[in-house]
Amino acid sequence: MQINEAKAALTALQAKLSAYNHAMSLLYYDGATTAPKGTAANRAQTMSVLSEESYRLSTSPETLELLEFLDANPDALDVHEKRIVYLALKGVREMKKIPIEEYVAYQQLVVEAEDVWHTAKEKSDFAMFAPYLEKIFDTNRRFAGYCAPEKNPYDYCLDNFEDGLTMADCDAFFSALRSRIVPLLQKIAVRPQVDDACLYGHFDEPAQHKFALALMETIGLDMDHCGLGTTEHPFTTSLGSHHDVRITTNFKVGTFASSMYSVIHEGGHALYDMNSDDSMAYTLLDGGVSMGIHESQSRFYENLLGRSRAFVELVFPRMIDAFPQLASYTPEQIWRAVNRVEPSLIRTEADEVTYCLHVMVRYELEKRVMAGELAVADLPAEWNRLYREYLGIEVPCDREGILQDSHWSGGLIGYFPSYALGSAYGAQLLAKMKETVDVDACLRSGDFSPINAWNREHIWRHGCLHKPGELLTSALGGAFDPAYYTDYLEQKFGEIYGI
Ligand code: ZN
Repeated sequence: MQINEAKAALTALQAKLSAYNHAMSLLYYDGATTAPKGTAANRAQTMSVLSEESYRLSTSPETLELLEFLDANPDALDVHEKRIVYLALKGVREMKKIPIEEYVAYQQLVVEAEDVWHTAKEKSDFAMFAPYLEKIFDTNRRFAGYCAPEKNPYDYCLDNFEDGLTMADCDAFFSALRSRIVPLLQKIAVRPQVDDACLYGHFDEPAQHKFALALMETIGLDMDHCGLGTTEHPFTTSLGSHHDVRITTNFKVGTFASSMYSVIHEGGHALYDMNSDDSMAYTLLDGGVSMGIHESQSRFYENLLGRSRAFVELVFPRMIDAFPQLASYTPEQIWRAVNRVEPSLIRTEADEVTYCLHVMVRYELEKRVMAGELAVADLPAEWNRLYREYLGIEVPCDREGILQDSHWSGGLIGYFPSYALGSAYGAQLLAKMKETVDVDACLRSGDFSPINAWNREHIWRHGCLHKPGELLTSALGGAFDPAYYTDYLEQKFGEIYGI
């Protein structure tokens, strides 16, 4: 094989895989947004054909031969090509270590488990979901043994979502957070509570939709390439390449804040996905590199910018325009209300101070189940005990406790720490950005371009070219330090609660 032929074959292979992904993401998006109720089986049929074809294509002997040939000729490859070959080979080699029948059985298991989880959550019946969850944990332990026998199984899971992340990193990170967040929360608890009555009332859907579009424009999303849909659980997805990204939200008539902040959160994911370098379209480098870096961007826009006083002042006129009943409040009152701190049951609705405590509960439990120290059957009792210990609240039922998140039913073991890491990465990125960008002035004037240009330069345009840890260190100009995050929390909430 000639090197140029091989390079052309690699480009063609990636274009095909992108096309399969495009079709599958669109099917998924359609199912989650506008498809009529009775059409799931029809989509599942097409999806199974496409996913099998895509799997065959990426793991065929010809593909492996092509990748190994390119890997053996590193001097002929540029940095993009080297990284593509590395990523593709890593994927194929790993896939080959898992017996195909076990791989297929696992895919089937998670589809069934998600279905069962929905019903179990509705009925608040953990026992119904437990046998599936047990199989999911068992399979993850077994796959870890196939793919990385030298590693602790949970380290293997963590590494799947954040290249290089280990339990030792997480333990150190979470204990650093806990030592500052718990005392902060105790101080807040004895201060007068913030009044958030302005967030509640009747906010009809068309008005919320109008406001959502205004928010997307405000943070600088290119509305010709980013759409907004409605789903039960908000998410972001790219269709085919970074030229077509969709975000979704859920409008709750009783409060505008829930949709407002989910739109800004998903908008942050979308900005990251949409701003990969154009040369990366239809290659493995297109889009965000890891969940941790992704969350650093979504939570950056949602909290560090979106829940700042300057941002609330900026969008206040659009808010009044959409919801005239808010005219009797001041931006200051709204800003305080959207920053009210209160230990609560549901992670996705948690404030910035308690959010990471929710993540820590899941991390502790995953770690112990993966190590065989905790039985799946004992999870609800442990969950409830940890919520009492970390957040000081009683969990009334499994629906609002252990069954609230869908991640485990989809097989995503090791995913949760990236939410907390992302929050902390974001705070340090903001501190770094402030060395050269007057972020407050940007927010006051509504000009997001200097903020977005900084993120584009240091994070977005790189797509998956670098390992997440390397990308982060280079953007920060130094090592990651969670103290930036806890400093930020103490400073901001110290002001709000007069501490
Ligand atoms: Zn997110």
